[in-house]
Amino acid sequence: MVLKIFNTLTRRKETLKPMRGKRVEMFVCGQTVYDDAHVGHAKTYVQFDTIVRWLKHLGYDVFYAQNITDVDDKIIKRAQKEGVEPLSLANRYTQRFLEDVDALKVKKNVDLFPKTSDYIPQMIEQIKTLIEKGYAYVVDGDVYYDVTKFKDYTKLSRMSIEELKRHRIEPDPRKRNSFDFALWKSQKPGELAWDSAWGKGRPGWHIEDTAMTVTIFGPQYDLHGGGSDLIFPHHTNEIAQAEAATGKKPFVKYWLHAGVLNIKGAKMSKSLKNFVTIREVLSRHDPEVLRLYYASTHYRKPIDFDEKDLERPKAELEYLYNTLRNIKHAASSKGETSKEIETLLAETEKKFAEAMNNDFNTSLSFTHLYGLAREINKIVSKQKISHEQAERIVQSSRELGGIFGILEKEVLIEEKLPKEVEKLIKQREAARKKKDWKTADIIREEAKRLGYILEDTPEGVRWRKMSG
Ligand SMILES: [Zn+2]
Repeated sequence: MVLKIFNTLTRRKETLKPMRGKRVEMFVCGQTVYDDAHVGHAKTYVQFDTIVRWLKHLGYDVFYAQNITDVDDKIIKRAQKEGVEPLSLANRYTQRFLEDVDALKVKKNVDLFPKTSDYIPQMIEQIKTLIEKGYAYVVDGDVYYDVTKFKDYTKLSRMSIEELKRHRIEPDPRKRNSFDFALWKSQKPGELAWDSAWGKGRPGWHIEDTAMTVTIFGPQYDLHGGGSDLIFPHHTNEIAQAEAATGKKPFVKYWLHAGVLNIKGAKMSKSLKNFVTIREVLSRHDPEVLRLYYASTHYRKPIDFDEKDLERPKAELEYLYNTLRNIKHAASSKGETSKEIETLLAETEKKFAEAMNNDFNTSLSFTHLYGLAREINKIVSKQKISHEQAERIVQSSRELGGIFGILEKEVLIEEKLPKEVEKLIKQREAARKKKDWKTADIIREEAKRLGYILEDTPEGVRWRKMSG
């Protein structure tokens, strides 16, 4: 089975063929640390984490780097406002960001979080090369990239020159072309700066990623991800920088872009002040709920965020965890191996893989996993199964769920029921025998209040503890 990936560069689904055999080198644009990350950022990180999990599942040896921008206009501005050093402000938000991605179960799959401030010499070196090769020019201590010198500038964005012109809003008479972009910004009073051949200053945003990745991976690597809003100018400029500096093409073999997250029709962003931070949402919801929420939409599509919509993945997760409990309940030494279940498992694993191998179709693969749970619930409500089979179903469900970062929690079956609940179950059975449904319902509500769900099965009342 081959993995097909939609490549923004070619606008086609292509078979993944990494440059170095089974090793996949991957870079995703990370956080600018001047404030807490929001659920729009989380969409990108979680969806790329799911992609990494699937690549690893297929046996690829993934090296995943995600940068942290700790030198930036916004950081400088906020630090000035708070009266603190920019790097100490950045440090504070870096720590908080790492806590957030850890809570989202994203952090452990990132092998390296390179920081801008650690790569300044490499950026200066790359800018020097671009000047020497005639792609960049110096004006009053600033360095600009001359976009007209790079023939394939619009190959990723596929924009026309007219569109390009419209995107550059600040005209600057010192620039050769209105859409030339800054590689180096000269120091303004009070700003942090590093020494360079062009005077004190700091790097522009775009040069960061290419200086880092050329250092980490060399002139070419496999996979570059980020939000679709980065195609232009950020990723467009990355290609112009790297391919001009190293002379090697393509700089990146596969470009992957995640759809943006909107809120009430507008893109969630710090500048629009319409954001909800990851922390806020995780204070109200389990990380697995948020992860499943992202998995229910294809990564290239946008999402319109409404916190109410988290109810659905929450209910789905509860159903899946209950299924795992039901499977454990149904396991018995007298149970048999159900042929039907064996066939279901094999079919689900196959369909799940087909969906994931088709440009990471998580919503479809989740549908298959959920469908498996439904079928198995039907079977185990009627019959006991062997311990081995129960174990196999749980393992398989966890393995597939693990691709989305769900079903990673322990499932405990309490053997002892509190006396109080035991008594209620007996009373309820008695009421049901008398067909006194009203009393039976009242008793069920009472059990719920105590944290126990009672379900009627042909074999009698089954109970389970409510989660959360
Ligand atoms: Zn970037």
